[in-house]
Amino acid sequence: SLKKYIPKRVLLKISGEALLGKGMYGVDPEIANAIAQDIANVVNSGIEVCLVIGGGNIFRGMTAASKGMDRVQGDYAGMLATVINAIVMNNVLKQYDVESHVMTAIAMPQVAETYIRDKAMHLMDKGHVVIFAAGTGNPYFTTDTAAALRAIEMECDLMLKGTQVDGVYDSDPKKNPDAKRYDVLTYTEALIKGLNVMDATALSLARDNRLPTVVFDVHEKGNFSRVLNNDGVFTKVV
Ligand code: UDP
Repeated sequence: SLKKYIPKRVLLKISGEALLGKGMYGVDPEIANAIAQDIANVVNSGIEVCLVIGGGNIFRGMTAASKGMDRVQGDYAGMLATVINAIVMNNVLKQYDVESHVMTAIAMPQVAETYIRDKAMHLMDKGHVVIFAAGTGNPYFTTDTAAALRAIEMECDLMLKGTQVDGVYDSDPKKNPDAKRYDVLTYTEALIKGLNVMDATALSLARDNRLPTVVFDVHEKGNFSRVLNNDGVFTKVV
């Protein structure tokens, strides 16, 4: 029989918007709980998990800059937004008895541990969840790039991008009823066609370091573990 390949260590990236739910701002507790439950199930199955959470539900530097704000200051506001989401998710995970930690790319010692690669590695080796917050710590980057970077640093087998859609399409499925979903896609193809997967920095970083990414719908209950078992609907980018 065909033996299924199950990864040993993965990074799950959740966009800020995915946490928004029906709310106008912040984090929807129902969604946070559902995602935490899924993460707990995967962790309990013996897969090592780390997380990067976006901040788009609270603040985006580029959006603010388009309305006249200084881009760099806006990006700092965006990075701080990711810390808010990380603290919330860390707390919800603890309610599911997951050992989890927040590490920030910008030092804020009263709030969370500062990111140190070896320390994070050690925690992951022990099976703990590490939530990487404040993106890369640099303006002009995104949390998708932070996710690719941390996944590579943590030697993850796979990055999973949890979104509101069930994969990558050749055009916007909300606007075009004939839009086709890719099962498999290459990073180079995504870059050339300008497909809505991740920004170019994240795509090229993942490509150059041979980190595959799975794009899936994080709101579908149980999907995180389903996708890791190669079931369900998703797009794999290689
Ligand atoms: N950001 C940044 N550097 C990083 C990561 C994030 O400056 O390394 C800022 C940027 O302004 C971004 C915001 O933080 O818009 C929130 O992150 P992102 O837009 O990636 O969140 P998501 O879309 O995943 O919710």
